[in-house]
Amino acid sequence: MNSFIIKNVRLFDGENIHEDSSVLVEDGIIKQVQQDIEKSGLLIFSKPGHTLLPGLIDAHSHPYRESRLSEQAFRFGITTLMDMHNLHDNAVQQKQWAKERKDFPDIKSCHFSATIEGGWPAWVEKRLSNNEFATYDDWPNVATEDDAEPFIETAIRNGSDYIKLMHEAGRAIGIKKGLIVQPREAVQAAIVRAAHERGLKVVAHALSLKDTLEVLRAGVDGLAHTFFDEPITPEVIDLYKRNNAWVNPTLVAAGSLTCESKEILKSFSEDERVKSRVSTEDVQLIHDCLHMKSPGAKWEYAIDSVRQLKAAGVDIICGSDAAAGAPGLVFGANLHIEMYLLVNKAGLSPIEVLRATTSVTADRFGWSDRGRIAAGLKADLLLVEGNPSVDITDLLNIRGIWRDGVKFNGHPGFSQN
Ligand SMILES: [Zn+2]
Repeated sequence: MNSFIIKNVRLFDGENIHEDSSVLVEDGIIKQVQQDIEKSGLLIFSKPGHTLLPGLIDAHSHPYRESRLSEQAFRFGITTLMDMHNLHDNAVQQKQWAKERKDFPDIKSCHFSATIEGGWPAWVEKRLSNNEFATYDDWPNVATEDDAEPFIETAIRNGSDYIKLMHEAGRAIGIKKGLIVQPREAVQAAIVRAAHERGLKVVAHALSLKDTLEVLRAGVDGLAHTFFDEPITPEVIDLYKRNNAWVNPTLVAAGSLTCESKEILKSFSEDERVKSRVSTEDVQLIHDCLHMKSPGAKWEYAIDSVRQLKAAGVDIICGSDAAAGAPGLVFGANLHIEMYLLVNKAGLSPIEVLRATTSVTADRFGWSDRGRIAAGLKADLLLVEGNPSVDITDLLNIRGIWRDGVKFNGHPGFSQN
């Protein structure tokens, strides 16, 4: 069943657009990509006016206990969902679903991030959820340089695909200094060294310029957010270049924190193509905001940092920071909104954004089996009507999703296309 030909489509191969192309898939693997393919006995999808792309990669999310969040992401064409902090048991469960089901994204995960007692994100979770029964006893407590090596050993045993640092002092989000416990820069550097010795990439959470400088000095490979408390400085750009680090801006998250993106996001929450794919409670959440900011913080600082990092040649990858019940951080929908913002606010071209959501991410994390449409790769595919290399929102005209060559037939209660 997972052998077929898709023909007469515009193809985005992860890098560039090719008009009038065909793709042959056999047993879940892409076998041939060329202008025309003739092979008898196979199912043929002829789709003029459509664009075929690699399945999207959301480089930042938090799929917790339930399957419904990752399912929702899948309905938006996300065939690889990257978890950037979770309870270990939840990450194992998510990966198990990914193994058993083809109507579910493949899951990559750091499992637990390198947390510290009293630090991020337990501090904010306790405050937002008011869950007096939540337990944080089994979270890692990486408090000194000596804790780095055992933390990495556990991460490898757990099956972590990369390492995530949490470097948050509350500066950009208006939390008084000292309330959130933050690991010292030297501890973060020790984690990076231990991870690199084992060949693991390290991504860091930081929301302020100061915290961003510290994790870049500690040697991280990429940032999971850009900052929004101050304008970018040449020092930030230099450190990004020195590390050859990438940035995943999460402009959706910054806009939700400063509460300046509400109007733009509202139009998406009213879009039928979005509404038909999200759970009822998530429709409102699409344009709600977290509203946690220091007095001087501005969304524009985040947006301008992307413009300047891009101009300096820093790789940009694309992720949503989707998290259960979080305003402005809705699975699936907000990755599409992030792509829209990267084009319409930060000035990337649609093609650059398509690369940021497919091949650049795959390349930077070293996954040679996905992120492109080429012979030998997984047949994780997204078919949309129109031309997203001209209008990025055409990505919402979803007409087909395949994971490992298996065509998605919808989840109960949601429209298939
Ligand atoms: Zn996050």
